[in-house]
Amino acid sequence: MTCIYCLKDEKSIPFKKTEHVLSQSFGLFENNFTLNGVVCDSCNQYFGDNLELDLARGTLEGGFRFEHGIKEPKEFKSLGKRDPVIRKVDEGPWKGAYAYKIYSETDDAVVIIPAPQVGFLNKATNGFDYYLIDNIPDLSELRQKGYDIDNPKGMFVPLKHVKAIKKALNEKGIPFKMTEGLDCSLQNGQQLKCKVKGSIDDKIMRGVAKIAFNYLAFWQGSEFVLHKDFDIIRKFILKDEKTDYPLVRIIDKPILGDEPIVGKRRLGHIVTTNLAKDGISIMSGVSLFNWMTYNICLAREFSGVHKDIKKGHFFDFNSHTILELTTERPSES
Ligand SMILES: [Zn+2]
Repeated sequence: MTCIYCLKDEKSIPFKKTEHVLSQSFGLFENNFTLNGVVCDSCNQYFGDNLELDLARGTLEGGFRFEHGIKEPKEFKSLGKRDPVIRKVDEGPWKGAYAYKIYSETDDAVVIIPAPQVGFLNKATNGFDYYLIDNIPDLSELRQKGYDIDNPKGMFVPLKHVKAIKKALNEKGIPFKMTEGLDCSLQNGQQLKCKVKGSIDDKIMRGVAKIAFNYLAFWQGSEFVLHKDFDIIRKFILKDEKTDYPLVRIIDKPILGDEPIVGKRRLGHIVTTNLAKDGISIMSGVSLFNWMTYNICLAREFSGVHKDIKKGHFFDFNSHTILELTTERPSES
């Protein structure tokens, strides 16, 4: 047994744990794809504590798990300040303010509420510009930017966070002038409509690449993926080592040829492997919740013995089964 990630063998490291091709935090499926004796316990543990955690908590796809019943709302855990997903309220009195997701016991649901922040009145637009509590500018910068600091109505703060904001402002020597704040508690079931901006960091890219590489190992066997041409993707997944071309790209095209770019798609995850247009590079497509498509280059200009690696599976939420994709996929363009 040789680990397909760190290349250590069973003489130096145990292989007792089961590696799931797709982490179980993205759903449980009948006859799930698992790897035994392929990924060592140390790599398995590292992935669980790092890449899988970030993929589940730090992505919009991870948030979908609560909307599609894969996770109970009470299991929701925020990444807090490390959350790369930025939400800004898009309507109502909080428009423009930062918001974040929390579990609400009263609703037994994951809800979006305003984050700890302060809004400063922008004289030019007569609206509030918001700064998160850790990002409040200095007094001189605020004046320079033309905020109306001396106006008693020049600040806007979520009432729930007044104490913390007051402290943060004091530390920066900014006089706290707020005469009215806004209650940020929401009525039962009320949701703030938000604009969402996600940044996709390397950990997420590596987590997605791991799904692709696991999938290739599951179907083609560990012998095949131990070829040295996979060293680049191995090192990227395990050690975040980069190379001079992008290993993971995001494209806005759905994997399934008959589905729209914008609009309703089948509900499930998709993983595929195929050769690139050059006929020798090994590629994979991964789409969680059939939403964004990640294209992963597993081996560029593979020099080993070629075999038919074209394969694809759909992890179906309705039936909790994994279906093989049999229809002809359009060629990559
Ligand atoms: Zn290993």
